[in-house]
Amino acid sequence: MTLLYPSWIMQGRWPMTGVPEEQQRIRAAIERLCAQFGDGYWLERDREGGFPEAFYKAVAEGGWLGIAMPEEYGGAGLGIGEAAAMMQAVAQSGAGFSGASALHMNIFGLNPVVKFGSDEQKRRFLAPLIRGEEKACFAVTEPDVGLDTTHLKTKAVRDGDHYVISGRKIWISTAQVAKKMLLLARTTPIEQSKKPSDGISLFYTELDRRFVEVREIAKMGRKAVDSNMLFIDGLRVPVADRIGEEGKGFHLILHGMNPERILIAAEAVGLGFAALARAAAYAKERVVFGRPIGQNQGVQHPLAQCWAELKAAELMMQHAASLYDAGEPCGAEANAAKYLAAEACWKACETAVMTHGGFGYAQEYHVERYLREAQIARIAPVSPQLVLSYIAERVLGLPKSY
Ligand SMILES: Cc1cc2nc3c(=O)[nH]c(=O)nc-3n(C[C@H](O)[C@H](O)[C@H](O)COP(=O)(O)OP(=O)(O)OC[C@H]3O[C@@H](n4cnc5c(N)ncnc54)[C@H](O)[C@@H]3O)c2cc1C
Repeated sequence: MTLLYPSWIMQGRWPMTGVPEEQQRIRAAIERLCAQFGDGYWLERDREGGFPEAFYKAVAEGGWLGIAMPEEYGGAGLGIGEAAAMMQAVAQSGAGFSGASALHMNIFGLNPVVKFGSDEQKRRFLAPLIRGEEKACFAVTEPDVGLDTTHLKTKAVRDGDHYVISGRKIWISTAQVAKKMLLLARTTPIEQSKKPSDGISLFYTELDRRFVEVREIAKMGRKAVDSNMLFIDGLRVPVADRIGEEGKGFHLILHGMNPERILIAAEAVGLGFAALARAAAYAKERVVFGRPIGQNQGVQHPLAQCWAELKAAELMMQHAASLYDAGEPCGAEANAAKYLAAEACWKACETAVMTHGGFGYAQEYHVERYLREAQIARIAPVSPQLVLSYIAERVLGLPKSY
């Protein structure tokens, strides 16, 4: 059976009340760009793996990689609100996390470099990234440490005008194709640091494969964007590649965490709306018992509920973005947006599979891929439990639980 999805539904043109015109323009332009990379492209990337280079190149050539980067280094100098509008539109086009994660790190990942790098570093690092010549990965998570980041074990030992780095990282996205990595490593042993969050330094440096073995992890979804174990053994990193002060790296990456949560929320909302659009279109078309399945309230109501929940998550995400862009604190809102969006996305994808019945389990209807990808937004970069702990402590004033 061939389904014709109305273009307005696939492009997510559900009412965009209150969205600034600039963001609406960005979404429309990204929709046009993504239309070149249809469902067949993403289905094949998901089946065969391999980084979506053609898509990445088109985004870079359109100048989009620098959307939130400073203008003096070739970026557009826009805010997280605009970057989120872009990333939502990417995911919503049907590219899902296969498309969004291919770009994600390059859109806002280098925020600590933008905020704390020297002028020389910004010129050296940002311009090639924005032009699409260099890809970056973000190496934080470690196998024996998990969410307890301040206890990371990767060590950087000073040796003249270099550091020598050794340790292990896990789940590092795009390390197969990245030329550079943003890396956290401990420069002062935890016992000699005033607080566990001190003594960690941040580096943006060459992913030199002579000293870093990159081993891909076979995983549930998003095959197009690799995830990897990194075995780092004696990697020499020039002091000139350290971002900010020695020992303050953990505090520097905290500045990038809220924007990252906002972007993940935007991507999850986009994927959720893509799944919902497919489900609604299918429910109108599929006739069983002599009428479209979508005429049954038992089918309609879960879909309507998903729309309401996605829309609420979208509004929280936009609210968090506008606070961030206004320089206001937004930790609670960014965390809440990531949590609400990931859960709403998961529910929408699952509902989409169920609405399709048996066809929902077939790859060519795409929603099973969406469901597998939706799980990423729930797990990374922070789990729902830790988001809720943050809100419990910081908003509700409850005692720290861990
Ligand atoms: C597809 C994918 C891509 C990723 N990309 C990257 C990347 O590019 N770079 C990178 O650095 N990392 C990346 N990650 C890692 C991701 O950020 C981590 O998986 C995530 O932070 C969770 O860490 P963990 O897996 O070690 O879980 P753990 O810390 O082992 O936690 C396991 C479970 O226990 C729960 N838990 C732990 N402690 C508590 C507590 N005190 N209270 C309540 N519950 C608790 C957690 O909520 C979670 O559900 C990626 C992960 C995935 C799956």
